[in-house]
Amino acid sequence: MTSKQSAYLVLNAGSSSLKFSAFRHHPHNDALETLLSGQISGIGSRARFEAKGADRRPLGEHSWDDKDSACRDTLLQYVLNWINATLVDDEIAAVGHRVVHGGLAISRPMPVSPALIDELDGLIPLAPLHQPHNVAPIRILAKNFPALPQVACFDTAFHSTQPPLARNFALPQALTDEGVCSYGFHGLSYEYVTAHLVESRPDLAEGRVVICHLGNGSSLCAVKAGKSMDTTMGFSVLDGVPMGTRTGSLDPGVILYLMREKQMGLEALEDLLYRQSGLLGVSGLSNDMKVLQESAEPAAKQAVEMFCFRVAKEVAALAASMGGIDALVFTAGIGENSPEIRAAVVERLAWLGIKLNAEANGRKAYDISASDTQIPVFVIPTNEEMMIAKHTINVLGQLAGHA
Ligand code: AMP
Repeated sequence: MTSKQSAYLVLNAGSSSLKFSAFRHHPHNDALETLLSGQISGIGSRARFEAKGADRRPLGEHSWDDKDSACRDTLLQYVLNWINATLVDDEIAAVGHRVVHGGLAISRPMPVSPALIDELDGLIPLAPLHQPHNVAPIRILAKNFPALPQVACFDTAFHSTQPPLARNFALPQALTDEGVCSYGFHGLSYEYVTAHLVESRPDLAEGRVVICHLGNGSSLCAVKAGKSMDTTMGFSVLDGVPMGTRTGSLDPGVILYLMREKQMGLEALEDLLYRQSGLLGVSGLSNDMKVLQESAEPAAKQAVEMFCFRVAKEVAALAASMGGIDALVFTAGIGENSPEIRAAVVERLAWLGIKLNAEANGRKAYDISASDTQIPVFVIPTNEEMMIAKHTINVLGQLAGHA
């Protein structure tokens, strides 16, 4: 009988979805192979399971329309059972989780322990809309499978290298001391892209790179010699550039005005800032960049233009944070798939001597720079799940080394 291989399950749990991927580790060359991925969407209403293989072929689907749609315990157990039945040659060796917030104290992936779960619970006030959902599957697995190793990987951790000048707000020191500061997010994506650049262009990775993670949630990061120096998302995931449904940076005076003149309370404001603004709010049409680009509506055009204007402005601001820029990288759904958005952003940066090769940009090449550009431009597809799988294996390796 041949022994089973080790598979690593990655979970990314949101308010109404549970995304999962499984990777096989090949220890001889430390390579990770994607086995499958999928998600349960519609948690709380009509939950629906879908999974596909590494070749994107559908592998399974299922739906619930009863009370189980809201039971995270049952849904997670379904995913585990399905993976165990599907991956007949593999055994789940560990689970890695995406966790949005690690606070000021956590600057690296952490093995899950009861004390860590308590610490993550304590950070819920910093990310009330995301953190409880991230922690839920960790708690369920710890209860049901206490011997299964789990590792928590944080969106904030990559930014722990930011200097206080970038990190702190112009607020009274007492508030800064209690953690009201800019944490930054999308750290696992920036880490993956940075590691890719270290492999592909180590000369540039040593320099000053601005990475544009443009997706439904968007942010930009200034990375100098592989370390985050500044980023556009701040205390929350609302800051920076406009997103699918979030405002991006907004004069806090607007919030005071809405509270005073329109008697808006916490819930109404949260709904406006997180769910009714951004591309959706400006266009009145959709939060989806592809839909807006295909629309002839003037308001859709205005939303797309505002997005490009704000992204270009932040590239320049982050270059200023690092005293210059040696490379520009686009990643995530919009950054990877929309040549028009990349072209519109770079056009606004022509004064920096940045120029695209239109043909390479059109076919989503890795290097999309014009031959006479002052600053090279790249498209690097992100893979946060693979980053989490790598961290999970590394953390377990370190624990085994210390055992
Ligand atoms: P993400 O959150 O990284 O999955 O990115 C989702 C965003 O990427 C959505 O706004 C999509 O409309 C956008 N997107 C994906 N493919 C394209 C495309 N071909 N052109 C424009 N936007 C796209």
